[in-house]
Amino acid sequence: MAAMILDGRTLAKTLRDELQAEIQQFTSQVGVTPTLAVVHIEGDSASERYVRSIQKACGNLGIHFVKPHLAEGTTQERLESVVSSLSEDTKIHGILLQLPLPAGFDTDRAIAQLDPRKDVDGIHYSNAGLVMQGVPRFVPNTPAGGMEVLKRYAIEVAGKRAVVVGRSMVVGKPMALLLLQSHATVTIAHSRTLDLAAVVREADIVVVAAGHSKLVHGSMIRPGAVVIDFGINVQDDGSMTGDVDFASASEVAGAITPVPGGTGPVTNVMLLKNVLHAAWLSQTP
Ligand code: NDP
Repeated sequence: MAAMILDGRTLAKTLRDELQAEIQQFTSQVGVTPTLAVVHIEGDSASERYVRSIQKACGNLGIHFVKPHLAEGTTQERLESVVSSLSEDTKIHGILLQLPLPAGFDTDRAIAQLDPRKDVDGIHYSNAGLVMQGVPRFVPNTPAGGMEVLKRYAIEVAGKRAVVVGRSMVVGKPMALLLLQSHATVTIAHSRTLDLAAVVREADIVVVAAGHSKLVHGSMIRPGAVVIDFGINVQDDGSMTGDVDFASASEVAGAITPVPGGTGPVTNVMLLKNVLHAAWLSQTP
């Protein structure tokens, strides 16, 4: 059986079109342009490419984009002062602190300077706490995108057995909580899980965010299961693979996100949706 492809590129286009209309409505109603500030320390080319792609997407959608200059070799103090002044600046609605920070930086101290009402990546502990409580303010973009894929493809979550492989703060854990909130029975697997294949085989919905190319093979997947692959692994030849072995998994699964073209494009739109949400929040006391 060949799985249905959960096409993230087409979905992202639909989401962008919807968002563009919502941004136009905000701008004409409030008279303010939603504004995103990206805090990025220069020096990593992959990260710089990602920031440029966000800038372009902002331009296309009518979001104002700001990027303070933070040269390679900047200090923790300068980073914190930039985040803190953006937090206080009423013209800035959303702040994206580009992680991971270079070696030697204290990430928690930098995050602590973020106004949680501008934290469009959902990394501040108070936003993580709200996700935990089931009343999210900002959901981290990657799991938000995964849930959007499930929703838009009308995949039933309530009552299903879901296995999330990976327990990071930005992907695995929040995804597990969101699935739980949608009434799935959730298991989180990680590097110490014994017999990963047996755990994954129990799932109606398999979500993989492990950072290991092709970790989950088709032989581990229950026939007909839905597979959401968050993995982004760039190979030596420049090609990209997921954390799921697409060739074998797509023979067994009922539906699957490809890599590239699955969760990735949707993630970027979720960030921009959060910028609009932050702009609306700025209008409330
Ligand atoms: P992390 O490295 O922070 O976390 C990886 C998680 O996977 C850890 O919890 C780790 O377990 C677990 N893990 C590692 N190896 C195994 C294994 N052999 N078996 C089971 N579990 C394992 O990664 P992230 O969560 O940041 O990212 C995960 C993936 O998602 C990466 O491929 C990344 O590129 C991608 N990503 C995709 C995005 C998108 O938009 N689609 C955005 C962000 C990330 P333990 O906790 O025990 O160490």
